[in-house]
Amino acid sequence: MKLSDIGEFALIDLISRREKKLPSTIIGIGDDCAVLRPKTYDLGHKTKYLLVTTDTFVENVHFIVKTPGDFYYLGRKAMAANISDIVAMGGVPTHALVTIGLPKKTSVKAVQELYRGMDSLAKKCRIDIVGGDTVASPRAVLVSITLLGEAEKPILRSTARVGDLICVTGRFGGAARDNFKLQTFMASGVEPSNVKIKLKESGKLAKAKLATSMIDSSDGLVRSVLEIAKASKVGAEIFEDLVPRAKGATLDQALYGGEEYELVFTIRANNSSKLKQLKLEATVVGTIVAQKQGVRLVDAYGKIKPLKSGGYEHYK
Ligand code: ADP
Ligand code: MG
Repeated sequence: MKLSDIGEFALIDLISRREKKLPSTIIGIGDDCAVLRPKTYDLGHKTKYLLVTTDTFVENVHFIVKTPGDFYYLGRKAMAANISDIVAMGGVPTHALVTIGLPKKTSVKAVQELYRGMDSLAKKCRIDIVGGDTVASPRAVLVSITLLGEAEKPILRSTARVGDLICVTGRFGGAARDNFKLQTFMASGVEPSNVKIKLKESGKLAKAKLATSMIDSSDGLVRSVLEIAKASKVGAEIFEDLVPRAKGATLDQALYGGEEYELVFTIRANNSSKLKQLKLEATVVGTIVAQKQGVRLVDAYGKIKPLKSGGYEHYK
């Protein structure tokens, strides 16, 4: 069955047949606006800051979908990217709006798979989808998610200081390695395997107030360090051989491959034992240095290597 067989209203009905799960969702899908209460209010906390982020994915730019099953991964990826942005601020994700642009010929099954994908992560992270918009698109599939979150004290990119240690969660290069192997997903950027989001780790860091700055690694480890350096007006040294690599990933895949949602953060050097106590699977991979030294890679022999520039940039 295609969307042209059922039309917009039946489609919205289908999508929006979902119960609201959070007490903080007062009105979910169905009215002109969603009505929300801070989620942490339910827990008796005082929410100090609201976070909001949005990410959009366009067919043939960010992904390729061939079968309805591919839409499941698209849904997960779109949700993951948004959750990761909230988590990278030390925040708790709460409510999402989902906008879809779909060609008439899209199958109903594909849309259901898309929502199944989004729901799989939403459920895990206790997020309610509370609304969105549904429009026709002449050719390309488009998915855009706006996600709300809350934080007691957001962890910014711009607050790293000289002498801080650069730390990461998890291992790097796995997505780059897999995309390379899975031919159909090669140009797609859709992560085929497990999407792991470091919600728990971010929560522990936020609670312990250990991170002096933080970002996610969605555009690759090196890119994340460059972003922290730029925002914080500092330089950085990354020690290549300290970078935890996914099994079978090359050094380049670990340093530059993106599509992963690990945390890259800095801590004061004298807090490293406190970090260990958090039991995060975190690894120190470098140090923050003065801005004039730039961002550099250091190999196992202490030799400085130039960074590869690049990474994906739209309109180029
Ligand atoms: P409106 O005319 O007020 O924009 P719509 O007919 O677009 O209303 O949507 C009806 C309800 O369904 C609204 O609550 C809206 O937020 C929700 N909705 C529409 N499209 C989506 C979608 N793709 N995903 C989730 N909720 C949606
Ligand atoms: Mg609408």
